[in-house]
Amino acid sequence: MTEECETPCPSVALITVVDNSGVTRVKTVPVHRLPRVAEVGVGLSDVSAVMAVDDGITASPGYDTPSGDMRLIPDLDAAVDLHRSRLRWVPATMVDQELVPKPNCGRSILQRAVEAAAKAGITAEFAFESEFTVSDLETGEPIHRGPGYSPIALFAAEEFSIDLVEAFEAQGMNVEQFHPEYADGQFEVSIRHSDPVAAADAVVLLRLTVHRMARRHGLRVSFSPRPHREIVVGNGCHLHCSLWQDGTNLFGSETDGLGAAGGAAVAGILDHLLGIQAVLTPSVPSFERITPQHWAGAYTCWGIENREAAVRVIRGTVSGRPGAANIEIKTIDASANPYLTVAVILHAALDGIGRGLTPPEPISVDPHSLDEDARTARGIVRLPADLDEAIEAMDADGLVRTVFGDQQYGAFRAVRRYELETFGSLPREDQIEAHRWRY
Ligand code: GLU
Ligand code: MG
Repeated sequence: MTEECETPCPSVALITVVDNSGVTRVKTVPVHRLPRVAEVGVGLSDVSAVMAVDDGITASPGYDTPSGDMRLIPDLDAAVDLHRSRLRWVPATMVDQELVPKPNCGRSILQRAVEAAAKAGITAEFAFESEFTVSDLETGEPIHRGPGYSPIALFAAEEFSIDLVEAFEAQGMNVEQFHPEYADGQFEVSIRHSDPVAAADAVVLLRLTVHRMARRHGLRVSFSPRPHREIVVGNGCHLHCSLWQDGTNLFGSETDGLGAAGGAAVAGILDHLLGIQAVLTPSVPSFERITPQHWAGAYTCWGIENREAAVRVIRGTVSGRPGAANIEIKTIDASANPYLTVAVILHAALDGIGRGLTPPEPISVDPHSLDEDARTARGIVRLPADLDEAIEAMDADGLVRTVFGDQQYGAFRAVRRYELETFGSLPREDQIEAHRWRY
């Protein structure tokens, strides 16, 4: 925590958690109370575990009465003062009144995943790539109309872009790159990799920084996977991952690229991919994004630098190898809770390593261009077409239930079912609109 401030010291602390709907929730306290709040927590209702994207509250075993309390304990070591603001952001863990982590605390579930990896002698690094759509606050129209990746698109939001990058830098966020993306109004930020919890924290900080800066420029931002009915290319939230054992990058073998353990990790992720998709793409509009030929990875396959594969293996520039090698999981969007997402990916990889799985052959072509028989022969399967299929696949696979435990699994699943029942049969435009300003 910064004690000397350039501008007036922050007076208000934003304590954030991400719930089972993928929405970031906040409590604020005066900054001077933070040390005390780190000991006793600040309250949030227990049923927030079953709160959905529209703030509707459903029920599941353990979350079916209005009784019960949850305390948010801010992690003061992770606090960041927001740029040119009197706000200090602090991510929190969710505990009960005995200070035991709550079943629905994604940050604690992720911390346990990190411990499971450590037991297997593995450390992990993760980094999210965040795409989002910037619109005019008044009209809701996308702020640029391309060309994708062009200075013309950038200049449409020049001041916003500069302020944003300056804020990221001032907040110590290690921006790797920022650019106007392919779709109308779309931009992307990549943040440098870090340990799993820090990577998930960083994407929470990134989103609230982007929302805050947008407001200051008369703009409005959507991280929704399908932000606008006329824009077919969605917002992804790809996740990069490297795994390390005894100082060796498991994806950076000089001989075959992946190495045996790296290959097993990829095989584990592919083996569970259908079953974890309800965590990685949990909202009703998520599934409109996961379409072939949109770089969103619609099929369970991997390939070296293949942008249509769900898992893209990146060897890195020769000057950066073998450290730079990593895998990118494409089938994620920002309606996913980042803590739960990283936790299930890490567990799927560990499961592959534990079972000594061998990955299938890499795919270098667009899997959609293969005929059905060729895909079947290579074990390539289309990802769930909608949330209903994804929930079914999650039940059948079982990994998410094991990682979450029964109570959290019930709550997470109940939120998915509520959202499916509330939005699943609405006209497409209404589905998109209902989610547009929620993430
Ligand atoms: N917008 C694409 C997606 O929804 C990703 C494009 C890219 O690879 O940067 O995943
Ligand atoms: Mg992109």
